[in-house]
Amino acid sequence: MSTEDAPDRLAEPLTKVLGTRSSKPLEKLGLRTTGDLLRHYPRRYGDPGRLTDLAGPAIGEHVTVIAQVARATVRSMRNRQGALLQAVVTDGTHELSLTFFGKHPRALAPHEQRLVPGTMGMFTGVVSAYQGTRQLTHPDYKLIGVDVDDEDSAIVEASRPIPIYPASASTPSWKIQSSVRTVLDPLQPAEVPDPVPAEVRTERRLPGRLEALRDVHEPFDERQWRRGQHRLRYEEAFVLQSALAQRRARAMAHEATARPLLPADPQADRPTHRPSLLADFDAGLPFTLTSGQREVGEEISAELAQPRPMQRLLQGEVGSGKTVVALRAMLQVVDAGGQAALLAPTEVLAAQHARTLRALLGPLADGGLLGGAEHGTRVALLTGSLGAAARKEALLDAASGAAGIVVGTHALLGEHVQFADLGLVVVDEQHRFGVEQRDALRAKARTSPHLLVMTATPIPRTVAMTVFGDLETSTLTEIPAGRAGITTHVVPADKPAWMDRTWARVREEVDAGHRAYVVCPRIHPDDPDATSRPARAADPEFDEVPEFLELEETSERAPLRAVLEVAEELASNPRLSGLAIGVLHGQMAPADKERMMADFAAGTVQVLVSTTVIEVGVDVPEATVMVVYDSERFGLSQLHQLRGRVGRGSAPGLCLLVSTAAPGTPAAVRVETLAATTDGFELAAVDLSLRSEGDVLGAAQSGRTSSLRLLRVVKDATLIEQARADAAQVVGTDPELADHPALRAAIAEALDPEREEFLERA
Ligand code: ADP
Ligand code: MG
Repeated sequence: MSTEDAPDRLAEPLTKVLGTRSSKPLEKLGLRTTGDLLRHYPRRYGDPGRLTDLAGPAIGEHVTVIAQVARATVRSMRNRQGALLQAVVTDGTHELSLTFFGKHPRALAPHEQRLVPGTMGMFTGVVSAYQGTRQLTHPDYKLIGVDVDDEDSAIVEASRPIPIYPASASTPSWKIQSSVRTVLDPLQPAEVPDPVPAEVRTERRLPGRLEALRDVHEPFDERQWRRGQHRLRYEEAFVLQSALAQRRARAMAHEATARPLLPADPQADRPTHRPSLLADFDAGLPFTLTSGQREVGEEISAELAQPRPMQRLLQGEVGSGKTVVALRAMLQVVDAGGQAALLAPTEVLAAQHARTLRALLGPLADGGLLGGAEHGTRVALLTGSLGAAARKEALLDAASGAAGIVVGTHALLGEHVQFADLGLVVVDEQHRFGVEQRDALRAKARTSPHLLVMTATPIPRTVAMTVFGDLETSTLTEIPAGRAGITTHVVPADKPAWMDRTWARVREEVDAGHRAYVVCPRIHPDDPDATSRPARAADPEFDEVPEFLELEETSERAPLRAVLEVAEELASNPRLSGLAIGVLHGQMAPADKERMMADFAAGTVQVLVSTTVIEVGVDVPEATVMVVYDSERFGLSQLHQLRGRVGRGSAPGLCLLVSTAAPGTPAAVRVETLAATTDGFELAAVDLSLRSEGDVLGAAQSGRTSSLRLLRVVKDATLIEQARADAAQVVGTDPELADHPALRAAIAEALDPEREEFLERA
């Protein structure tokens, strides 16, 4: 009660608390309320006793250094009017100059008085060179332990860890620090509602929220900020897990129609035997299921038989055969009198799925047609590129139930599509299938349909727990036997001989009757640089490098290669003369895309230059070689997905990663890692360790708007598990959190539509 009555001071706008002059620059960092500012945690802590190695900073870098003033002199300038203050700071070995200009020496006196030799301070600015010396011109600076009243507190101040905030050129770290103090100091515990219930805090020995905020913003020693960070990190995990626990509980409360397996044996205990599509399908399969496919199949089969909606995530290595698993689940539902929908992320993929399913089912997919199996069903394809007549027929088949399986993109969830009895929804190659979509689904059926989400992007357990905490997870690790596998090489873009060899290999493959993909990050050479998952751009307002020195990325990049440009180049490449080269990208009309994929599958197009639209799921077994331009700009998991498009048949696959990355850079490490292993799970782990958390969770690139600021989903596995257990208990006894208003509010804020994405995307 007390928490509900007390004003939540954290919601107060900073303009009110700090005044416009101080709050304006903070607003540029996205900080509008007291709560925003207090959750703008220091990224790290400077040790006032340890100086920055001044040999490090290079010309052009924006740096914040801790150093000692060695000397400072003011003089008039010889050639023009005005005065110059030249100070030198040192780390004990190396020096850096500080230069200040003034109209006359008097104007520089305040700096001169402060920059007393022996004084320590933090200095920030862009390194420039003047007559061979590195210097900071008009640096912003703050002296350590100087701006306090008495000597005792000066000594204390000078020994405290220095919070270093994500800052910008216009708002240095210490200005943020002083604003934080201004808002933090007068706060009372009752004014800062704590989403972590008291009993959980006691159990886990965690400080209260206000105390933790003081720990991280104004620590006296390392132990203190570590304690505060731990508690705030726990809070993030706990709020998230509570939200997920509520979701699980709500999903479980929905009713689903049980779709039990038909007994395969006609002699079994069913009086009226119906022929089983699933049994017939299994009997006609041209291969044996892997043991993983069988086990996961049984798991799914048992869940479909329950009157509660299945909520399952099936993750499986590229090419592990998820489609067959999904199809078998769909057939069980059709056998039980229901319908299944298969949603693909793109129209190309939806069309391919419809083709694959029809091929796999054979006569079983010709239900109601002459020559079709008498108990067969139909596979309807519903995409935006259908003609009016075909669309009408597909809609009718879905509504009447004649189509047991309806394939489409997410447009299937649109209002016009009606199902006779939708029992199962399979979402392929997509783990961004959020609550909203699930709600839309429920509206399509009398009862909640069962849900199977499939992804080939392997997700480590704790990430799954964090991002998909409301889904159960199954995993296929085995690749069906008989695959020839894939070899990956890195090709330096600036070595003409290597590039020539690349095209010679493409030629050899095509001459052997195979096909080639050439992947580029952009469509048109005039487009602004935009890979589908861009490497994090250097943001001049934000320095985000986790080294002690705050260096900004300043490297210039060559423009990214574009589909249209590369296709033209290849057309006149003598190595490829006479080959049929096609292009595929997202700006093409759906019908054109489909035609291009069909031509490529049929072999009338031999080299397909495309964007990452082929990233997920495209299955052309004759494709054996893939060239990826600007490969260092893609994420590891994405590259792994991409190369999964080749080597799917009996001929070995070859993936050539063209890279412009300088040796030793993280980008170079990424592509080399990919060349070294084909284990998707291992790659996912490396990928995560190379990415920032914001990227992992798909929140805003900078991670600024993510609700997770301190939590590291990979590193903090234990903490996440504790929080999950605690959250289950709290939500279990108080499902609507009626007695936990602060937690309820924290969840609402975390799930704020603007921030919703932190649960929906990965
Ligand atoms: P993914 O899991 O990447 O979606 P697919 O479902 O597209 O993989 O399967 C890849 C290929 O492997 C398909 O051509 C499929 O028919 C084939 N396949 C699936 N299961 C088996 C199996 N048990 N044995 C042999 N081939 C299989
Ligand atoms: Mg697939």
